[in-house]
Formats: sequence, structure tokens, C-alpha cells
Amino acid sequence: MEKQVVDIARRAFNTGRSRVLQYRVEQLRALLRLIRQKQEDISVALTHDLHRNEFNTPLLELIGLENEIKLAERELSDWTRPQPVQKNLLTLTDDVFIKAEPLGVVLIIGAWNYPWGLTLGPLIGAIAAGNAAVVKPSELSKNSASLLKELLPQYLDQEMYHVVTGGVPETQELLKQRFDHVFYTGNSTVGKLVMEAAAHHLTPVTLELGGKSPCYIDQNCDLAVACRRITWGKFANCGQTCIAPDYILCNSSIQNRLIEGIRQTLQEFYGENPKSSPDYGRIINQNHFERVLALMEGCSVAVGGESDKSQCYIAPTVLKDVLPHARIMQEEIFGPVLPIITVGDLNEAICFINDREKPLALYIFSSDKKVIKRMLSETSSGGVVVNDVMIHYTISSLPFGGVGNSGMGRYHGKHTFDQLSHKRACLIKSLGMESLNKARYPPQTSSRLRR
Ligand code: NAD
Repeated sequence: MEKQVVDIARRAFNTGRSRVLQYRVEQLRALLRLIRQKQEDISVALTHDLHRNEFNTPLLELIGLENEIKLAERELSDWTRPQPVQKNLLTLTDDVFIKAEPLGVVLIIGAWNYPWGLTLGPLIGAIAAGNAAVVKPSELSKNSASLLKELLPQYLDQEMYHVVTGGVPETQELLKQRFDHVFYTGNSTVGKLVMEAAAHHLTPVTLELGGKSPCYIDQNCDLAVACRRITWGKFANCGQTCIAPDYILCNSSIQNRLIEGIRQTLQEFYGENPKSSPDYGRIINQNHFERVLALMEGCSVAVGGESDKSQCYIAPTVLKDVLPHARIMQEEIFGPVLPIITVGDLNEAICFINDREKPLALYIFSSDKKVIKRMLSETSSGGVVVNDVMIHYTISSLPFGGVGNSGMGRYHGKHTFDQLSHKRACLIKSLGMESLNKARYPPQTSSRLRR
């Protein structure tokens, strides 16, 4: 079945129709219609998958997609225009340029935490770049996956763009097929399997992975503002965001004030009982629920800590005085639990970050320019934000992606288009002026070279 789907997509691509800009624009417009007309259905699916309310659906997922589509539609003729480049003496009279051309058939494998953004985001770039695509949404967000499978063929070219649902076996079967690019979002362990499978066909990959994104809070900082921004980023979508601050690094002198600030903000955001708040999400399934609870074992709970298995509910939780070797510090938390690790000073914080895998995001809260400068120049991460969290994701002009263990490749806006295009080197010469070429033809005798 998977092979058949890829064959159909390849045949559609080979017709050449996706090379025509007007076709791409029409498909992008159709995708925009899908998002707008089916917002309510999408919202219901997300409520079932992740307990999202109807306000969070556009805010966390659909507005960003609409903006990406509008940007691609507006800029497409510019992005696809051949770019003249500098020439050398031998080619002064020639046309020398770079032309973005489609790669072919792209496989997009999505994760469950933002099931629409993580599949349709790359798809927008695939369409804009003129590719055919096969989308494999996560089986864990099953309501969104089956809705996507139902809706996409109603709006887009059914031969060019496909949705394959299913779990690990189906994804593995897909990965055996030959694609021209694989765009995977998910955890690093599976990322390695994806890269291994792609290597059999020498298929390039984009790996949008995760990891533990640190949040350093300097003493010289407005802690009340820092607490609001961090509390929003950490507990939105119940902590299941790849760029959520994973843990806080701070000096012990501000730990208690931070805990108090986060406690107050939680009360403001989700009320006395977050379980009954329509704004507070749930863990995707019982496996992840058990996993997150197990990570907390042995830690000292400063805020929250309550849970209810029947609803996959874990209260917004803050852990204090967490030790670097604690279990919760060994893997990405991907849940509503925020450990605080105390460090002596900035040097120690930098060493702590550099001793671990390069994170997807790094957050720094400080009013001290020297602290900010040192953090920026002495650490590495996919992205970095000073005095806020997560909002870099919303800026289409910034490349979004990881480095090292947090991934490879980048997307959003034109970066997605570039990622899913081949930049073809083009040189167009006339058959005239042959005399100019004499010097390069043999025989290259030394007497001729001297002349
Ligand atoms: P997941 O379990 O939904 O897996 C992602 C995809 O991989 C699914 O489509 C699934 O079918 C497939 N898959 C799972 N196991 C597989 C296997 N053994 N072989 C082949 N395919 C397999 O999602 P997840 O991995 O739990 O997602 C959470 C992770 O994703 C976190 O680490 C998070 O940080 C990361 N993430 C990264 C980004 C980003 O943009 N960088 C965005 C969201 C999530």
C-alpha cells in the first residue's frame, strides 16, 4: 500500500504540473481554505487529542499556518526567480545563476504534540517548492490524523499529495520507499532510525528533534515578568512543546522567589484548580503520563505534583533543588514539570549547558548585557531567546531547527522552501566567441602558456 502511494505521487510529480507556479499557488490557496473552513472540526479533534480549547486551536496552530501560506503565496515568484551570481573572467559573457527546482517526492513524518502545525507546516514548503508529498501524521493524536486523512484529498490534488495513517509498522514501510527528501519531526532516537533508513537511498533528511532546553535566570532580572513568560511557555499544551523550557538554572538566592512567582502566575492563568480549567491541557496518553510521573520520583515538589490517571492529568508542577544526576535531568521531560537546578554563578551555568547535548532552544532572562553576551557567545543551541520563551517560533524569517542532537536542517517561511528545493547551478553559454576558450584546450605546452 505504502509503495503504491509513493508510486502515484511520483507519477503525478513526473507529469510536471507542480513545476508551474500557478498550480502551486492554487494548491496553497486550497490548503488555506481547508484550514479556514474546517477550523471547527480541527478544534474538536484537538480537544479529543490534547484537551485543547477552541481558542488555543487558532492561537497555537492555525494562525501560524495561515501566515505561512500567505507568505509563500506572496513571495513565491521571488523565491523561484533565478538568482544571478558573480562570474569569473572565463564566464563574463555567460548567464550564470542559481535556480531553485523541486526535489521530487517528499515524506513528511509528524509528531503528535502539534499535529496540524508539524505536518501542514512542512507541507506548505513542499507545495511552494513544487514537490509531491506523502504526509504521515502521528498515530498518537489519532483524531487529528484521521481528520487530516479525510480532509486533505477534499481540497488538494489527490495524486500529488497523500496522507498515510498508521503507527510504527506503517512508518517503517514508508521509510523503505525511495523519497527525495524526508522531513521528520519527533524524538532523537527515532530520528536516528529515520536517517538510517533514508541513507539506503541517499535521501537527504531534515530532522526536527527535541531535547532539554535550558532556561537561565540571572539575579539581575525582573523576576515577576520572567515568571509570567516562563509559566506560559512551560505549561501551554501541558508542557508538550519541543521548545518549552525544560528546566531552570538559577542561583539559589532567587529560587524561592521564582517558585512563588510561578505559583502566583499559575493561579492567575489556571485558577485554584487547573484540572477544571478549560485552558489547561492533558498528557497525550497513559504511557506518557506514567513516563512523566516516573521522572519526578525522588524529587522535592515545590508547586503542584497532583495527578489523575483516568484523565491523564498532571498538575503544573515545580521541583526545587533538583540535582544534576536526578532522573528528571536525564531525558526531555515533555510534560508540565519544571525542575529548578541551582548554580553558583554564570560560569557554572555555561558549563552545565555545555556539558550536555546541544539543545533545541536556550532561554536567558537577564537585564545585564554582559551576561547575555557571554551566554550567546559561549553556548550553542538551535535557537536562543533573551527575556522570553518560544516566540522565535512565530517569526517566519528566523530558521527554525536544531543543532547536534536536537536536529539538522531548518524550516519556516522561505527556509522551508529552501530546505525542500534543489539549488541548481546553471551556466548558459553561447556557441560564439570560441577564440576566448583557446587557452584551456590542449596541448598545454609551456611555450603556449607563456604567450
Ligand atoms: P511520535 O511518537 O508521534 O513519533 C513521531 C513520528 O515517528 C510518528 O509519526 C510515528 O509514527 C513515527 N515513529 C515512532 N516510532 C517509530 C519507529 N520506531 N520507526 C519509525 N517511525 C516511528 O512523537 P514523539 O517522538 O513522541 O514526539 C515528541 C518528540 O518530538 C519530542 O522529543 C519533541 O521535542 C520532538 N518535537 C520536535 C519538534 C521540532 O520542531 N523540533 C516539534 C515537536 C516535537
